[in-house]
Amino acid sequence: MYCRNCGAPLGESSAFCPSCGAPANGSVSYSPAQQMRPPYYGPAVLPPYNTLCIVGFICSFIPYVRTAGLILCIIGMVQCSSTGERGRGLGIAGIAVAVGSVLLTIALLLLPFILAGVGAAMTM
Ligand SMILES: [Zn+2]
Repeated sequence: MYCRNCGAPLGESSAFCPSCGAPANGSVSYSPAQQMRPPYYGPAVLPPYNTLCIVGFICSFIPYVRTAGLILCIIGMVQCSSTGERGRGLGIAGIAVAVGSVLLTIALLLLPFILAGVGAAMTM
């Protein structure tokens, strides 16, 4: 208990404040609920990035290891979903880059044939 008038600590049995003489029954008592502060979690700790997602994302840009990067991204994303690590976005981006470049490569390889076919159809 603390004196409401001057804030001096009061004994449980004292009827008057020993410091200023104010009646102790008017003193403010702090209940445990009032003393309880919201828990402090400290700076937000974010989970680490999944290494496979990062490596896979980088590999997806490099020819020849693109397929490996795609596999690493998929494994990394599976790991992210089970461990709660970050990097799922990187994994998705790596897969998109890898698949996109493979499709682009196929399209470029097929382009002469498509053009030839269109050209043949035009001349007919
Ligand atoms: Zn007092």
